[in-house]
Amino acid sequence: MEKSRLLRKAKLAVENKRIVKIEVENSFLSVYIFLTNDIRRHRDHIMTENSCDCKYFIFNKIYLNKCFCYHVLALKYSLESEKNIITIKTDFSTFNQILLEIYNYGKSLKLRKLIYT
Ligand SMILES: [Zn+2]
Repeated sequence: MEKSRLLRKAKLAVENKRIVKIEVENSFLSVYIFLTNDIRRHRDHIMTENSCDCKYFIFNKIYLNKCFCYHVLALKYSLESEKNIITIKTDFSTFNQILLEIYNYGKSLKLRKLIYT
């Protein structure tokens, strides 16, 4: 995928508020989650400011050392523009459950409940 197309996708994802920061209460622990909107083909992604758990990132950034995936580009864009990052604070146990759901099922219903209720 060419860079400008990735950037366009990234900006759209930011407009659609698909980046969530989860902070664990009373700690310095936090991660960013990129919420998928397509249940069948895609999954939520766990990110830091410079990494992502998707295949595109592993192949294009780590293996080829080329560009970031659009998930990380979206995160960088929203951090720079201070736009549209939903922040959620949880206890450690909830944080753990969210990550386990993403690893096991590809997405977290618990996280969606926290965001939308
Ligand atoms: Zn990614």
